[in-house]
Amino acid sequence: MYERPNIRRMAGYVPGEQPLAPAIKLNTNENPLAPSSTVVKALSDITPVMLQRYPDPQAGQLRRAIADYHGCELEQVIATNGSDELLRLAVTTFGVPGHAIGITDPGYNLYGVLATIQDCPVARVALDDDWNLPGDIADRWNKAGARLALLTNPHAPTGRLILSGVIARLAAEFQGVLLVDEAYVDFADPVHGHDLVSLIQYLPNLLLVRTLSKGHSLAGLRLGYGLGSANLIEPILNKVRDSYNVDAIAQHVATVALGDVETTRASWDFVRGERHRVSMALRERGFHVFPSEANFILLRVPETLGKAAAIYSALANEHIHVRWFDQHRLADCLRITIGTARENDCLLSAIDGITGIAPATALNDNQSPGNAIAGA
Ligand SMILES: *Cc1c(COP(=O)(O)O)cnc(C)c1O
Repeated sequence: MYERPNIRRMAGYVPGEQPLAPAIKLNTNENPLAPSSTVVKALSDITPVMLQRYPDPQAGQLRRAIADYHGCELEQVIATNGSDELLRLAVTTFGVPGHAIGITDPGYNLYGVLATIQDCPVARVALDDDWNLPGDIADRWNKAGARLALLTNPHAPTGRLILSGVIARLAAEFQGVLLVDEAYVDFADPVHGHDLVSLIQYLPNLLLVRTLSKGHSLAGLRLGYGLGSANLIEPILNKVRDSYNVDAIAQHVATVALGDVETTRASWDFVRGERHRVSMALRERGFHVFPSEANFILLRVPETLGKAAAIYSALANEHIHVRWFDQHRLADCLRITIGTARENDCLLSAIDGITGIAPATALNDNQSPGNAIAGA
């Protein structure tokens, strides 16, 4: 056998399916709306010479655009090939083989896979019943000797938003690098005034991870980035990454996309509206829907409505793909991405057909958000 023992032992990450046949895809948390026309135009700017030459190894224009977008310094920004690359970069840079990496249970399953690749055990801390962080989480990660901890916020797969103050305290108490993966932060309701970017200059161990895959409808482009103290980015992460990790097309299109976010912002409002409508409609039907600040919802299936796994399979038979996790604390849950209004209506009526409990008029009642709210 050629591979290292930890690689031999590990199970790889299983991404959500990308079905080829026409289907309603509510399983991988993409933005339901297409990218803006500005992005389409940016694609037409790509010339053969741009592909003949290596791209800017510093991704200067793009990082300038990211810094302007967030009101931070160029030195506080690193661009990567999707945020998954940055997660891997952080684990290989800060994860000490044989020493723990802090994660939560449940959490994004990729984190555990990356830790295993680095030969790091995980210090898995259970979220409470409402999916909040336990008060002693920093202490437990510290006691486990973790030099890096990975946290998704809004949390995946639960949708729970952890407030800025809690994160700030956690970063102050944790003795290693705290990576906060903000893949879904664009969908958080602005009423929370959630903003971690303003913290990076005060917290030298805080690394924020962002992506254009979800909020900006660009999952196929593969562009992620990190924001953190210049001491974390420039002399450390920048040294470890590949020189040409962000290709010329991604650099150009992402720069343009970040310069025009009006259409994109409208998509976040749309998702928030549909998230509310679908959550209320599912609660009316007896599901326990956890509050979500992401572009997906996690719901618990009560016994009276059947088994989550059975509903997942029945939906897949109708070409509606959602996510079911065969794991501790989630086996009676489904994670459903918020789709277009039509996709969400199809989902609700398919669930009615499968569970056979909702009134026949349920779909009509729920086409108007007003009715769905009044009925709850
Ligand atoms: C989707 C997702 C990512 C991956 O984003 P890419 O930029 O497409 O690699 C990272 N973290 C979490 C929690 C995600 O859900």
